[in-house]
Amino acid sequence: MTRVNIKRVKVKKPKRSTLKNKCDDMWRELVRVKGICEWCGKRTGQMHAHHVIGRTNRTLRWDLRNGVCLDAGCHKMNAGNAHDDPIAFLKWFETTRPEDYEYICQKKNELWDKDYDKVLEYLNIMEVESETKKMSKL
Ligand SMILES: [Zn+2]
Repeated sequence: MTRVNIKRVKVKKPKRSTLKNKCDDMWRELVRVKGICEWCGKRTGQMHAHHVIGRTNRTLRWDLRNGVCLDAGCHKMNAGNAHDDPIAFLKWFETTRPEDYEYICQKKNELWDKDYDKVLEYLNIMEVESETKKMSKL
């Protein structure tokens, strides 16, 4: 009689750093999907995803309402870019996306619940919505 050696397949839980990178990647892609610089209207090959409230704020780090699609110049290279002049940028954001501005002002002092699964679930829903929008434009 031969003994069959059945190994239990353990489902490894992904590391928190892996989850964080995944959230970052998804957030970036979803912000850049607009394909146009929201600040100056330029369409260039490489778009950047900018956090209105900096990424150290985990409550808003993966929230699409805290993201703006910018070209490289407006993001970091030109004089008066979003990082150089955050006050001017914030003024612009308040005027252009008043509801999102209001929303991030309310959210920014909330503590993050450290739930990456919830973030991924939200980003997945947003991804599906973004795909659906793209399809309806075809
Ligand atoms: Zn621009």
